Amino acid sequence: MKGFCENCRDMVDYSVKTVNKEKTIKGKTIRYVGKEAYCEECKEEIFVAEIRDYNLMQLDAAYREAEDLIKLTDIERILERYDIGKRPLSMLLGWGEGTLTRYVDGDTPSKPYSDILKRILVDKAYYRDLLEQNKERISEVAYRKSMTATEKISETEGNEISKLESAVKYLLMQTSEITPLALQKLLYFAQGFKKAFADTFMFEEDCEAWAHGPVYRDVYHKYREYGYNPIEEGHLSYENINLSDDEKELLDHIILYFGCYSGKILENMTHSEEPWRVARRGLVDGERSERVIEKQDIDAYFKNVKEKYKMLNFTDIKDYTKDLFSKLYA
Ligand SMILES: [Zn+2]
Repeated sequence: MKGFCENCRDMVDYSVKTVNKEKTIKGKTIRYVGKEAYCEECKEEIFVAEIRDYNLMQLDAAYREAEDLIKLTDIERILERYDIGKRPLSMLLGWGEGTLTRYVDGDTPSKPYSDILKRILVDKAYYRDLLEQNKERISEVAYRKSMTATEKISETEGNEISKLESAVKYLLMQTSEITPLALQKLLYFAQGFKKAFADTFMFEEDCEAWAHGPVYRDVYHKYREYGYNPIEEGHLSYENINLSDDEKELLDHIILYFGCYSGKILENMTHSEEPWRVARRGLVDGERSERVIEKQDIDAYFKNVKEKYKMLNFTDIKDYTKDLFSKLYA
């Protein structure tokens, strides 16, 4: 890699370092992991446009995370999921017609606008109503295209819900009082042990290394209103649960060995484990992050646990749980 060094007055080779950076935006200190380039000749820092762009992107992501604002990729997911354009969606919402276009180009949405978009992403019934009630604001073609896409989602999700949604539903039905925090941790352990025992992951979705442990983002948004209280969801039924008998059995054992602990204890357990720690390298305690916990790290860690504890079947998981607990609290 070559860049211009002011000091050497020449194009030079440079090396890149990963560094913790911070910037104050609207009176709030935003911390993020950025990069810096150094001249290989004189070791001074040099300016590289790509690195500046990279840092701006990282800062933007950290700012959104700190303000709890929707991610750019999630806005793109909305447009794709409901087959709706930026302009028609702005119109449906009664916003300025260029609003979504600006957001997709990188403008940061305000908190209220961001919250509406987040809800649209995870709540198709909400979007469907929005589309139906405001259809006269958009063209007939745009309306029909989006309604078709939305109905298609309803069908597939109604018949075969994702493994993640199935596991959530199953866990909610098999436990009497579970908080969003504890639910997230049970999902994470299920993902890890499923891979260790069956060599396939239970969920396609990745979880992220948030301050309070591993989190599946969509599940978080669905139940965030419960805060630290148990989730109360009425009218659940065993119908349409897309899990094999083996997966149900694993979840039963996860409930048995991990479900007895509070969300806080489970959080501390996940904090002591490698995958979450690796994903949060360079971050300080409590710092917001949306970094993905890589599947390969989950795989390696739980495979190792299974070997170390000589696990043959699901009941052997209890040795690991007991050990984790006594290491933290004994
Ligand atoms: Zn130099």
